Amino acid sequence: MKTIDQIAERYVKLSLKIGQHCENYVDAYYGPQDWQPAAKPTRLSQLKNEALMLLAGARNVCTQDCDEKHHRMTFLLAHIKASVTYINQLQGNHLDFHSECKALYDVQPPKFDESHFDAVLATLHDLVPGEGDLNQRLDAYRQEFKVSTDKLDAVFGAAIDEARKRTLAFIDIPEDENFNVELVDNQVWSAYNWYKGDSYSLIQLNTDHPIFIDRVIDLAAHEGYPGHHVFNALIEKHLVNGKGWMEYAVYNLFSPLSLLAEGSANYGIEVAFPWHERMQFESEVLFPLAGIPAHKAELYYRIQSVLHQLSYVDNMVAQRYLDGEVDTKQAVALLMKYALSTEQRSHQRLRFIEQNRAYVITYNYGQDLVKEFLASKVDNTNQAQLWRGFSDLLSRPRTGSMMQAA
Ligand SMILES: [Zn+2]
Repeated sequence: MKTIDQIAERYVKLSLKIGQHCENYVDAYYGPQDWQPAAKPTRLSQLKNEALMLLAGARNVCTQDCDEKHHRMTFLLAHIKASVTYINQLQGNHLDFHSECKALYDVQPPKFDESHFDAVLATLHDLVPGEGDLNQRLDAYRQEFKVSTDKLDAVFGAAIDEARKRTLAFIDIPEDENFNVELVDNQVWSAYNWYKGDSYSLIQLNTDHPIFIDRVIDLAAHEGYPGHHVFNALIEKHLVNGKGWMEYAVYNLFSPLSLLAEGSANYGIEVAFPWHERMQFESEVLFPLAGIPAHKAELYYRIQSVLHQLSYVDNMVAQRYLDGEVDTKQAVALLMKYALSTEQRSHQRLRFIEQNRAYVITYNYGQDLVKEFLASKVDNTNQAQLWRGFSDLLSRPRTGSMMQAA
């Protein structure tokens, strides 16, 4: 019988081999260098056999004697299953959207259609200044809230310092943790955290499209503190270095871990910056630094909070587009009408959907699930308790169904 450590090592090696077939697959790896595969990629059919054998071996590991072992194995098993699904996908066998959500991210997100979003659009009609087409009105209204590229360093720097300060007051991460920020272009995402190990992240911001002021705290918290940078640093500290659980030294993008990573990074924005504190920091610090009149913050953020209710539009469009129910033109029209994104932005979003498929659910449903899970565990109106619950979840990760079962 194999031990969990042996299964974990095989999982890491399998993941790295899958990564040779798709450059986005392995998002981070900081385990032993001699676990890297030979230069010549293994054939997909052979990889599939390896993955199925690993799955059978993993199912044979007995964990009934210990809760911690059981938790670890449940999480690992969901990841091995996701690897099998992803190899199938690389072989051209795609599941329908909702089956893919379950197979790769271990959840079944709720389904919303136009009638749900129409109600949100009606609220926005009343809230956004101006007349006529809502998408154009919103676009015109937002122009004033762009952060110009020459101010981006200062504005983003202030936001990340504040997010870091707020996070480190409650979460204990290694003292030598650090990050660099780089401006890049020509990407399907708006920002990315590349975790390099040893508590270090490279955070990239994409300047293809303007960055609006609301994105500044979102990105600082999501990519940095208490988002991806902190999550990865906690995993490395507690699980990889502390317990020697090597399956955590690799982070596969298309796996259940992403639901928690994106979900907690999004929910972490609100944990670090509750509404009133955020409003104060925006109007006293960020708006002045960006040269935007501070008295305009209140309405802008009221509109943003309603816009947030449109985040599930991505799932609706991705499902219809990937399941072949709508074509490119119809998908862009749906994004423009219901996500209220410009035509150019909608095309970029569709490229993101093509590249990442059901991954879109990790942001919205991931966020809601993390929020619900924590509300069931701690008093989320008590800041210290909420931070403790948040930090515990990041240090002892759960998949979607593990959060739902708790
Ligand atoms: Zn993210």
